This record gives sequence, structure tokens and C-alpha cells, in this order.
Amino acid sequence: MGEILQLLFPERCVGCGHAHALLCKRCSREWGYPITNTIEDVPLISSAFYSESISHIVLKAKENNDRRCRRILANAIASHISETETLIPIPSSPSSIRRRGFDHALLLAEEVVRLTGSSLWHGLRVNRKIQDQTKLNHSARFANLSGAYSFLSGNSGNELPPNVVVIDDLVTTGASMREAIRVIRSEKGAEMLPIKAISACIASHHLPNTISP
Ligand SMILES: [Zn+2]
Repeated sequence: MGEILQLLFPERCVGCGHAHALLCKRCSREWGYPITNTIEDVPLISSAFYSESISHIVLKAKENNDRRCRRILANAIASHISETETLIPIPSSPSSIRRRGFDHALLLAEEVVRLTGSSLWHGLRVNRKIQDQTKLNHSARFANLSGAYSFLSGNSGNELPPNVVVIDDLVTTGASMREAIRVIRSEKGAEMLPIKAISACIASHHLPNTISP
């Protein structure tokens, strides 16, 4: 049955929409880099530079709940995660969860946990309305997210999870990542400073090497 469907509806690359493969050779070559930066004194590692192909994959996962695309993003994050680490996802806003009908950030984090055997910790939540970041310029993105996250301490009582890693699908200005790290650090201090931050992909125009506001 699968083969018949394949003949009737040959799979198109989720990145470029051309080749008959889930992810064609040309698009898959865009993944797999370790791109290293520093954000709030924490190493930030990404697996790809944001591109047209990758934007299609991120959008399909995020807006269309496309599991194949989510798996590509999860694999990109998972390649930098070990089973001894505890993932804190940058949370989706309640309004985007309502609009989409699913929680992209949570589903992505759960997929990474499945791939790596790591732990998931719901350490952050969005505590006020935030605007869609894609419609804002660089400085407005930082203002939009300032104070937007709060720390949830109910996950494991007073016990701090080991080896905390903040994860996200895409880093553009670094505003979300920076705010997340800042909130975790201000709440728990150096004891729980994330050991690293991982994003599936990163917008290249913010390199080289340090993302600052
Ligand atoms: Zn392709």
C-alpha cells in the first residue's frame, strides 16, 4: 500500500519541494554543522544556518504539525544532547498553542527526549502576552521578550535537575534564548546555569560568534 501511494503521490523534499525524497541530498547537506556561538556566557550550538530550505522545514513543523519536519529539527538538536542532560524548551506562547492547536515547542522537546534518552523539565512558561517575534525588528524583539518568561519550580521540588540545556528550533536574534537563560540564572543562580544552549538552526547574519542585544 505504501509503495502504491508512493507511485501515486511521490514524496517531495520538505526543504526544496523538488526531488523525490523526504529530504534531498542538496537540502540534507545544509544540516549537520556544529555552529558555535556564545549567548549570556553559555555556549550555543546550532546544526545549520537558516536558509530557504530550512525555513520551509521549520514552518511546516511549527505551523502545520508536520511530524517529518519536526523529526528533522529534533535530530539536529539531538546530535548535541546526551542522556545525562535535562532539556528545558523555550516555551511556546499560550496564544500560539491555541491558534495552532498543538504545542510545537513541547512536541519538539519530547521528540528529542525520545531520540536521546535525556530528561525533559518544564522549567519555563510564558507569563504574559508576547507579540509574534517575526513581525518585530531586532531591538523590539528583545523588548517584547523582556520579563516574558517565568521560572517554574514545581517540577522536582527543590531538587535542581542536572546538566540543564535550553533548546529551541531557531535562533534569530537570540532574544528568546537570552531571556530564558537570564530567567533560569536569576532564579537559581550559578548552580543551575545551563551548561549549554542548543538550536536546530541559526540565522547567520548574527555571527561571528557572539550574540548580543
Ligand atoms: Zn531538497
